[in-house]
Amino acid sequence: MKALLIGEVLRGKLAPSLYEMLGFASQAGLESVVLVCAPISTNPQFTGKLYQGDGGEYDPLSHKAMALEVIAKENPDLVVLMHSSYGWDLAPRLAMELGWGQISEAIAFDSGTFNQVLVGGKLRRSVKTVSGQAVVTLQSGAFSEAAPAGSPALESISALKGAIEWLGYVEKPAQDLDLTKAQKIVSAGRGIGKADNLGMIQELAQVLGAELGASRPVVDSGWVEHSHQVGSTGATVTPELYMACGISGAVQHLAGMKKSELIIAINKDKDAPIGEVAHYVVVADLLQFVPALTKALKA
Ligand SMILES: Cc1cc2nc3c(=O)[nH]c(=O)nc-3n(C[C@H](O)[C@H](O)[C@H](O)COP(=O)(O)OP(=O)(O)OC[C@H]3O[C@@H](n4cnc5c(N)ncnc54)[C@H](O)[C@@H]3O)c2cc1C
Repeated sequence: MKALLIGEVLRGKLAPSLYEMLGFASQAGLESVVLVCAPISTNPQFTGKLYQGDGGEYDPLSHKAMALEVIAKENPDLVVLMHSSYGWDLAPRLAMELGWGQISEAIAFDSGTFNQVLVGGKLRRSVKTVSGQAVVTLQSGAFSEAAPAGSPALESISALKGAIEWLGYVEKPAQDLDLTKAQKIVSAGRGIGKADNLGMIQELAQVLGAELGASRPVVDSGWVEHSHQVGSTGATVTPELYMACGISGAVQHLAGMKKSELIIAINKDKDAPIGEVAHYVVVADLLQFVPALTKALKA
């Protein structure tokens, strides 16, 4: 089986997620070719074929046209993108045009069967294609990255004029907190129950000299700013210490913190998925454990 992997370009740089797609392909035993629709400043490292487009960084119609041209040449069984805003946009356009099924947010693949997450990661579903062909988006962090090695054979491909003109990026206003630089992070999850309980997590963070992190529900509830969010739609962090307080360990959260050096989870559910990446799991009610820990650390 063959896969066409469509890499993303951001600010002239190839997104490192291409190596996750390459990792997926090699894990699944697929031959792979890569398409990158916009110019990139450095050459990717893999062996195989790279179709390099000369389009803008974002224009779904022109990127779709380039992908269809490569699909006609290479005849892949799977077209693979990341489950990102780029993938969300391009994948359904390709699936519609090809008349193939679309499998979104895949987190595992075995013998032709994909596992997907749904309901924000609370449920998993397994599916397989009827025709053997599909457009697939991969959940970030679900597949191990391939080690960068080798240099691909390059083939140029021209972009057609699309329907929108890509003008550039809008800079975010500078913010004081940069979690990616933090050496210690204590994160609050939905398990804290209510905004009033955030204080005890902040106090623990302060005693440890750590920054405050959070899972998405804590941010979505308006309890903390988005700059505190860890995960696939927040910061990707690699601190010396990551403490997850009342965080279940959904794949989108793990994507942002699983490479931390030491992970300690506090959870009343001993089977919470955070245990898959945590070095230590304290099975306890955080409302009792966190204040006791803070008191002991202060002493
Ligand atoms: C496209 C997309 C992008 C996403 N991006 C992100 C992202 O960037 N970051 C992110 O975090 N999520 C993200 N999510 C959401 C993600 O799927 C999960 O819903 C979220 O991570 C769950 O947050 P949580 O672990 O805090 O809450 P829950 O899953 O509700 O877990 C709460 C945990 O707290 C424990 N608990 C409850 N009470 C206590 C107590 N008293 N003491 C101890 N433990 C307790 C429970 O056992 C449970 O394990 C994204 C989802 C989607 C669909």
